[in-house]
Amino acid sequence: MDLDRHDFQLDDLVKRIQENDNRLIALQVPEGLKMQALEMMDQIESETSAKVVLAADPCYGACDLVHDKMKMMGVELVAHMGHSQMNIDSGMPTQFIDVTYDGDPELEPVLPYLQSHREMARSRLNSSANQNMSEEEAQEVFLDAVGRSAPLTDTKLGLVASIQHLHKLPEFQDRLEKAGFEVTVPLGGARLTFPGQVLGCNYSGDDDSIGHYLFLGSGDFHPIGLVLHTGKPLSMLDPYTGDASEMSLQRIERILRQRFGLIVSSQEATRFGILIGEKPGQMRRTLALRMKRLLEKHGKTGYLLALEHVGPDLIDFYPVDAFVNTACPRIAIDDAVRYSKPMITPFELEVALGEKKWETGYQFDEIP
Ligand code: SF4
Repeated sequence: MDLDRHDFQLDDLVKRIQENDNRLIALQVPEGLKMQALEMMDQIESETSAKVVLAADPCYGACDLVHDKMKMMGVELVAHMGHSQMNIDSGMPTQFIDVTYDGDPELEPVLPYLQSHREMARSRLNSSANQNMSEEEAQEVFLDAVGRSAPLTDTKLGLVASIQHLHKLPEFQDRLEKAGFEVTVPLGGARLTFPGQVLGCNYSGDDDSIGHYLFLGSGDFHPIGLVLHTGKPLSMLDPYTGDASEMSLQRIERILRQRFGLIVSSQEATRFGILIGEKPGQMRRTLALRMKRLLEKHGKTGYLLALEHVGPDLIDFYPVDAFVNTACPRIAIDDAVRYSKPMITPFELEVALGEKKWETGYQFDEIP
């Protein structure tokens, strides 16, 4: 990662600290920027009269805001870097600090992917779902990454980005339109702050008029979630390297086969650990209680386990047959192989119990 081309926008934070005359603030930075944290602490302390304590625990999103525990340390303000505000209240005054990257990749390498995905979307536009499927056909639909029953009304290109590249979207929209694409920058729900924004747990801007996607960002964390959620083809353009690629549907189908296997192996389970995340933006208490009641309805037992961090060493030893995860959805999706027992999402539990049908296709565990 080329850190020199990142812009850490500390000016608003410095101004707020000066205006409030804060004495102790906490700085929270994402994992990829931790190496720069001490430099930022130096800068804040040299420009204000506040002392800075680094919240050094792992931080993967704005769901994970420093909350009340820092109050006991006397922290007056939390400076949270690199993520945007969510629809949650951490109980602490929090200043969100933007980090933007000024990389400017060429469009040409990604155009062949976009053209082929637009063709896929066009061919899906008029295909209708078969309503009278056998159980076997319904399970095939579940495993088919692009076989969702959600109807398309158009084949627009949905343009999305991870947060440090969102400021480039208007310019990219313009360039893509000049290249002949009909582009929309999706507007998501309350968990998302900006048009075109995606999170690993929220793709709520998707709608039936979008036939395929372009993701501006690096890595496959967001692309995997977006394709699992929408079943739509996705091209990727990496602003750090200029590389273009696509999310392979074989890869998504492998994940779906793994989910299918975990659902089937949970069907015989009788004792479940139901994980509740303690992080402010991951806590889904109502959902966890609903899963407990659902298990009871089917003559099974659910034990509610609350954790700040979830990991194999912290839960594998409990005498249960499987886990249902209501904390960060990506724990079940991305890390399932790390656990010695099946780890499934609430939707997958409903399928395992026969409350939801295979033929509706895979339903991504979204936090609204
Ligand atoms: S994907 Fe997980 S870590 Fe990322 S914002 Fe959502 S809940 Fe938080």
